[in-house]
Formats: sequence, C-alpha cells, structure tokens
Amino acid sequence: MQQIPGPAVPSGRAVLRPIGVRDAVITGGPLARWQEINHEASIPLGLEQMERSGALPNLRRAGARAGEGDGPFQGYRFQDSDLYKQLEAVSWEHARAPEPGYAAFVEQASAVLARAQRSDGYLNSHYQVVKPDKIYAELEYSHEMYCAGHLFQAAVAAARAGVGDSLLPIARRLADHLVEVFLTGGNDGIDGHAEVETALVELYRLTGERAYLDLAAKLIDNRGKGLIADSGMGMLYAQDHLPVREADTAVGHAVRQLYLDAGVVDVYLETGDESLLECSVRRWEDMVATKTYITGGHGSRHDGEAFGERYELPSDRAYSESCAAIASIHWNWRLLLATGQGRYADLIERTLYNAFAASTSAGGTRFFYVNPLQRRDDLVEDAYLGRRREWFACACCPPNIMRLVASLGGYLATETSSGLQLHQYAAGHIEAAGARVRVETGYPWDGVVRVTVEEAPEGDWELALRIPSWSESTYVDDGPARAGEDGYFRIRRAAWHAGDTVELRLDLTPRLMRPHHRIDAVRGSVALQRGPLVYCFEQADQPEGVEVDDLAIAPDAVPRPVAREIEGVGRTVLLEIDAARTLSQPRGGLPYTDTPLTTSTRATATAVPYFQWDNRDGGAMRVWIPLA
Ligand SMILES: [Zn+2]
Repeated sequence: MQQIPGPAVPSGRAVLRPIGVRDAVITGGPLARWQEINHEASIPLGLEQMERSGALPNLRRAGARAGEGDGPFQGYRFQDSDLYKQLEAVSWEHARAPEPGYAAFVEQASAVLARAQRSDGYLNSHYQVVKPDKIYAELEYSHEMYCAGHLFQAAVAAARAGVGDSLLPIARRLADHLVEVFLTGGNDGIDGHAEVETALVELYRLTGERAYLDLAAKLIDNRGKGLIADSGMGMLYAQDHLPVREADTAVGHAVRQLYLDAGVVDVYLETGDESLLECSVRRWEDMVATKTYITGGHGSRHDGEAFGERYELPSDRAYSESCAAIASIHWNWRLLLATGQGRYADLIERTLYNAFAASTSAGGTRFFYVNPLQRRDDLVEDAYLGRRREWFACACCPPNIMRLVASLGGYLATETSSGLQLHQYAAGHIEAAGARVRVETGYPWDGVVRVTVEEAPEGDWELALRIPSWSESTYVDDGPARAGEDGYFRIRRAAWHAGDTVELRLDLTPRLMRPHHRIDAVRGSVALQRGPLVYCFEQADQPEGVEVDDLAIAPDAVPRPVAREIEGVGRTVLLEIDAARTLSQPRGGLPYTDTPLTTSTRATATAVPYFQWDNRDGGAMRVWIPLA
C-alpha cells in the first residue's frame, strides 16, 4: 500500500522520521474510540456547519458575478479558516477511512474557492466582500495570512491523501501571491496571528518551492520589530514585542505563540538555523515549568486568550483553549522530530489524554472552546465556561479537533535507520522501519503493552519504547527497564523473527500530585493522576449530601481504582478515595474567620478521568482538592 505522509514531514535534518498517516492503524482504546466518533458524528456535523455557519456561503458571495445575489457576510473575518480546517480533517479521514462523500466535498469546496479567488491569486472572503479597500492594510488583526495558512495545510493534506487535485493549485496561487507581496514585493508585514509560517514550510516540503520556505523564515525574522500596528491588545498579544530569538517566555494569545513556535521549529528543520531551535527550546522549558496546567492545557487568562505570568494558573478561570492544546501538540511533535527527546512525546501524551480529549463529548457532537479545571455549581450562564456546545460563533476549535483526530495515527511512532520508536501506546498495527508490529494493550486503563513482530525487519534492528516520566517502576519482559537520557528504552537485536514479542509494563499506581508552591491558586491542594490520565471530581459521582466544593483529602489517602462502564461516559476507571467535608465558620457575614477550619463526616469521594467530564449533568467539577 502506498505511503501517505502525514501533516509534518521534514526533509532530512530531523533526528526521527515520521511514519505515514495510514502506517499506524489504531484498533482499540480511547484513541480508536475518538477516531470512530470523529468519523461517525463530528465530521458529519462539521460538514453540515460549513453551510450553516456561513463559511461556504461567504466564499460563494466572494466569487459571485454581477447579479448573482449578495447575501450578507456571516461571522468573523477568519471564517474561511473553518472551511480549510474542515477540508484538512476530511482529507486525513479520507486516507484513514474513506467515504464517497469526502472527495465530493473537497471537489465542491474547491470549485467555490476557485471561483472566489482573484486573478492575482488573492483569496479571503471577508476582505473581498466587506473590505476590498483594506486588503493587507490591517495585518495586525486581518487574519489574511492565518486563513491562507490553513488553506495551505488543507491542500497539502488533500494532495497527500489523494482526494481531488484542484485544491493544491488554488493554494499555490495564493502562496505565490503572498510571495510576490511579502517576500519580493517590499512589504515587510507579518500576520498578527501566526500560523502561516508552519503551513508555508509544509507547502515547501510538498512542492519543493523554495520561496515558500524563504517567506516563512522572513515572517519569523520580522516578528517583534514593530512592523505592524498594535491591534489594540498590546504587542505581547501577537508575540510582536520582541524578536523571536530574544523572547524567553511564552506570552500573549496562547494559540498564536504555540503555532508560531511550531513554525520556528519547522524553519529550523529545513534551514538548519540553530538559533531558531535554541530559542524555541528555551521558551518550551520555561512554559512547561511555569505556565502549563496539569492537564497539559495552556492559557490562563480569558482576557486576550493569553498566557499569564509565571505560575499564574487558576483552575476556575483557566482558558486552556482546545486550539491551544492542538497547537501545543503540533509544536511538541516538531520538537520531537528535531531532537528525538522523549520529553516532547511526554507532553503530547499529557495534552492528548487530558486538555485535548476533554474538548469533545463522549458522543462527538459537542465541544468545549475553554477547558477549565473547575466548574462551580452556581455558575451563571457563560458563553465559554458552561457546558460543551454543538458549535460556536467563533468555531476555530471543532474542525481543528477533527483534523488532529483524523491524523492521530501519524503521531504514534517514528522510524530511523536503526529501527522503530513507539511514542504513544494504543492497540493496533504499525508498519514502518522495515517491519510490521502488532500492539496489544488496554492502555491507558491498563499499563501492559505487548509488541509482537509480525513481519521481521532485515538484520540488526532496534525497537525503542518511550518510558513515560510518570511511570516509577517499569519492566520490559522480566527485567526492570530504565529509560536512557532521551526517555526511551531500547531493545537491539542482531536478528528479529516473526512472532518475537516484547512486553512493556508501565506503573499505573494512582498518585496524589502536588502543585509547585508558587502556583497560588491551588496551593495546599492535590490532584489525582493514574498513568497519563488526570482525574477530576464531579458532583454526579459523590455521595448524597457531599458537595464537591467542600471535599478535603487526607495527605496519606490512597486512591483505589474501580473499573466501570458508565452510561453516557463509556468505559472508564474511576478512583475512589477517603475524604472529609471542610466546615467554615464565617464571621459577621463575611467569608472569613479567625477560627481554624475543621473537617467532619468522612466520606468516599470518587474521581473520573478529566477527559470524560461533563457527559452527565452540568454540576460542579474540580481537578484540585484541598488537603484536609
Ligand atoms: Zn479554538
């Protein structure tokens, strides 16, 4: 079967080579379930929304000739990007599990785009319909290049997946137009919302057109030099406060920072400019140490959808946008390919199973934009903090989720000349590095991963298994397995035979996780974690009369795993733990007292994996629980 390269395919400098999107077939566990509901529920919903939300009608309007109707422009100025992400999702899904409607959708959308595209290659329905006199005149908030980037990624996916051949020429005409204006035409502007950089590099990888890479590099070099206006949100908002190589910490709009850094690593991978990799790793280390939620989420301020200060990580006001989780996975994936360091796969896993997975309902038809770590039961109606919704006026997240889930297979493993590296564990088959292996596991509910060689590689070959940093005592076959400095345990043999097996046993002992003492918002609290899964306490699981917000946990309490199948939630492993209720005695009507808090009424509290929350009632939830 012909290989279909996935979303990011570096040309040579990468330490690890990605496998194709079809080379890993996931057959069991949550990842398989997400792909199934993506196929059956999310993508059909997304396709329907392309008409209803205005994405396709806007573009038809942009391409309308005189007398062909002129309905109003619908939605935001970046509405086109919803369609592009949807096209990308459909393209990867076509590679994974084709449906006859997918190719037809890509062809129909391409025809609308071809008609809307100006003869000089420009394409953006908002500016063509609403503000034709402002094209490239308000780059600080126009999202013109941001939308273009999503078109490039969709076109790359469609070309690789072989679903229609009309999208790529449209994307190239627009990319050529950007090159004429911003690379060779004397315009030194950048887009206020980074994204086009990583996309241009991928378009270069597909087409070999060097100007696309040069433009990506120039856009990165030009950021932080005051070449575009302040959008009114401040220069940090768009990471335009400092040149990229000088910025030490992730700031501003989280999704912009994370896409920008994905592009920074992409340009390094093609040009070898070490200063780009260095600054990106520096920001990564600072962000992971001081600005990352235990769920892997990023963005702690609703104001500006932004990173906060170091250790500013509130639970209830967490922003943790679903798109930020996706952008973080993109960035970490490129860092993993560039360096071979398992710490990036570790963060992908944490983000994937928690911040990202929580974004979608068990049925696949409702989504979170914001992923808080606490919801109070008296929550006043709020556009973002309430319950998952079917769609949003600003619908950046749902189609973004769909494109990642459709391409998930590509993130499980990589190959090198020495063998195969397994980064994420899921039941299924992987065909790469000259071998075919079967993976049997109940991960993440169970920590045993059995890898069987079905078709043996030739001669000397190595199987590398990521040992997650949370696994305290790990075994491979009968012996304790210590990961190397890069986070991988390697099994190298001079000869492999069909039927050879390797059994990895990860330590899923549930743990009480404590926050860094400077994270004031959750100081004195603990969170439960079992394997890669972070847990939360939902009101629906607590005994009668015990409110989630009154729970306290003894420091020496030991969580007990309980396997369950819950209606509306699905297969799960709950954690039960001894808890108590905290009692406060406010004074003078104020919620403060000089009397020490007391606890009473011992109870058994029950926690559910965070990614499965909000699938029952709309009650209280919290990840962090104070210690008694
Ligand atoms: Zn979003």
